[in-house]
Amino acid sequence: MPLEILRRTRGRMTAELARVPGGFGLGAVPRRLAPAGTANLVCGFCATGCSLRAHLQDGVAVNLSPDPDYPVNLGMACPKGWEALAPLQASDRATRPMVRGPGGSLEPVGWGKAAQRFVDRFRQILAEHGPESVAFLSSGQICTEEMALLGALFKFGMGGIHGDSNTRQCMATAHVAYKESFGFDAPPYTYADFEASDVLVFVGSNPCLAHPIMWQRVLRNPNRPTILVLDPRRTETAAAATQHLALRPKSDLSLLYGIAHLLLHHGWIDTDFIRQHTSGFDAFSDFVGCFTPDYVSAQTGLGVGEIIRAATAIGRGKAVSFWWTMGVNQGHEAVRTAQAIINLALMTGNIGRPGTGANSITGQCNAMGSRLYSNTTSLLGGRTFTDPEHRAEVAGILDVPLDSIPSSSSKAYDQILDDAASGRIKALWIIATNTAQSWIDSQRFQEAARRLEFLVVQDMYVSTATTDHAHLILPAAGWGEKDGTFINSERRIGVVRKVAQAPGEALSDFAIFRLLGEAWGCGDWFQRWTSPAATFRLLQELSRGRPCDITGIQNYAHLAEEGGIQWPWTSADAQPAEPEAQPDDLSPHPPRQPRSQPAPERRLFADGRFFTPDERARFIHEIPRRAPETTDSEFPFVLLTGRGSSAQWHTNTRTGKSEILRQLYPANAYVELHPNDARSLRVLNGSTVVIASRRGTLHAKALVSASVQPGQVFVPMHYPGVNDLTFPAFDPYSRQPSYKFCAVRIDPLPDAVDKR
Ligand code: SF4
Repeated sequence: MPLEILRRTRGRMTAELARVPGGFGLGAVPRRLAPAGTANLVCGFCATGCSLRAHLQDGVAVNLSPDPDYPVNLGMACPKGWEALAPLQASDRATRPMVRGPGGSLEPVGWGKAAQRFVDRFRQILAEHGPESVAFLSSGQICTEEMALLGALFKFGMGGIHGDSNTRQCMATAHVAYKESFGFDAPPYTYADFEASDVLVFVGSNPCLAHPIMWQRVLRNPNRPTILVLDPRRTETAAAATQHLALRPKSDLSLLYGIAHLLLHHGWIDTDFIRQHTSGFDAFSDFVGCFTPDYVSAQTGLGVGEIIRAATAIGRGKAVSFWWTMGVNQGHEAVRTAQAIINLALMTGNIGRPGTGANSITGQCNAMGSRLYSNTTSLLGGRTFTDPEHRAEVAGILDVPLDSIPSSSSKAYDQILDDAASGRIKALWIIATNTAQSWIDSQRFQEAARRLEFLVVQDMYVSTATTDHAHLILPAAGWGEKDGTFINSERRIGVVRKVAQAPGEALSDFAIFRLLGEAWGCGDWFQRWTSPAATFRLLQELSRGRPCDITGIQNYAHLAEEGGIQWPWTSADAQPAEPEAQPDDLSPHPPRQPRSQPAPERRLFADGRFFTPDERARFIHEIPRRAPETTDSEFPFVLLTGRGSSAQWHTNTRTGKSEILRQLYPANAYVELHPNDARSLRVLNGSTVVIASRRGTLHAKALVSASVQPGQVFVPMHYPGVNDLTFPAFDPYSRQPSYKFCAVRIDPLPDAVDKR
């Protein structure tokens, strides 16, 4: 069987699959690498989407530098970008498929055997327990073409229903908020807006550190803008702001409603825009009537004067842009908070013009690709599984049987893990994400892992906390070792290229999905998915007529030449313009003039038309709720988590592999603690403390700093054990976890107590 599978794939699959060793007799296939010189590719960490120039020797990247001509980063990169090649050289790269034997140890096997094991176990579990007994968890770190193939293979080919992505942890809230408010998941902005505002409002966002190239764009703003930061911590961005509103954790919804109240009260609203382009404003204005400055002050801990000052800056601004990130998205009422930001932009008419917008800053390099094409909770192209017309469209475009497309959406990440922990889901396939460390309340994953009958982990590395639990490890190529595209925060599609050879027998995720599809016996359904470039053409067809239409893009070379292209870019946009016909004009028409290529920077909603059925944006609101876990005398501190440095990324799986990056952040976990609290606990700066929540404990060094308020502590999210502490609360609409609020206590170790 394995030999047969590989014979059938020969000639149709990429060269990298054909070079699988192990005696399949396919012969030597030349490496398909970029030629000597340089090759530009979009960075594989965050969704800023900087372009990096790989410098090649013998076709292999030996160094990187930022691309000076790319409209995103303009020649800049953060430390992660500069060091992006280092993680590829790590000694713990997964180089061969590994199967866990009866004795519990992992044994290397060939790809044929690995694929057969995958198929046998999944088929057996599906046959015995039905389509809801299997699931996958994917990632915003792989290429759009790969995630689309995975979603199509698993749901249309293998018969599964449930699959989610780690973008649930970062962007699900923005996705749902936009969909409900604008009618489609459509971040409206372009990075030029950072430079064109006269007021910038950052909510739960620390671009100085988390999106440093975006912050560089802010610094290029020639308007000497007013910068407001809403954040409980005095972050690097807050320290640089005109006004820092250090509100109580998770009181941002009340504050945003309070600002709306003041804007209304002072008449700082755009009544024409509201009347022509929105719905639900009257109910919203009634609703915010009770969010008086006094009430909001009591809720947020801010002074009335601070709230009025912020509202005045927004109300008097000419071009106000609102930016939010994980401080909003990762909350128990996150969708409504994001929509409260959207409401401010709508009521003041700050949308669709340069320097404006309600703008979610995306986390992972391809979370935006995942939102449109992962086929997890949304059907391909931002469609809906429950809509029969949408299912028929996808079946027609992809030429798959209509009844192979599930008529219900997937369960969300937390529900998949809950089902695994309760035994309902028995086989789980995890791709390019470190769930064991990154998921909120790690105990949940441990329970799931104990119950799972078959856990497949597809990853670049063999040593993550998640691979420890795997029954089968599939070795994957990383960023820089494969081709494809990413979509960045401002909807820009950029090209990723193969500039390095994956080690050993590791294959691109795309090739692994193709191999497993063939092994499953549904390879014929995917005959047109022969390569990432061919798959991109399918994605274009899936986008046709949708708000994210990209049918005007010619190919990868066009994307590279243009410095990426923001969606939408339709085939009509790309058509040569018809010359204007004059009545009775019998003279020969001049030749059709090609339209200009896509402008380097484009924003949405300049015409005030949104994607809702009535083309109006919606005001949506809800009464704020208390955070689900509260502090008490036993656990008196609020634990905040977030990005620790611009040299760290998520669970440090990759950034921890760079010697240079490791020098830019503390090796072990630390906890920021206010000087007053340190004094009352008798904790010295630099001493070790135990952070305890109702779920677990973590040892950390005390960093005594007024960056946090009394009663609050902050721990960077990158260190193992942080999620032993966090509380599993979720936004009810996006099911995004609330990483930013749980109750803890701080216990100094006996020998660390200040005895003075
Ligand atoms: Fe740019 Fe983000 Fe990559 Fe840094 S990590 S170089 S900011 S894309």
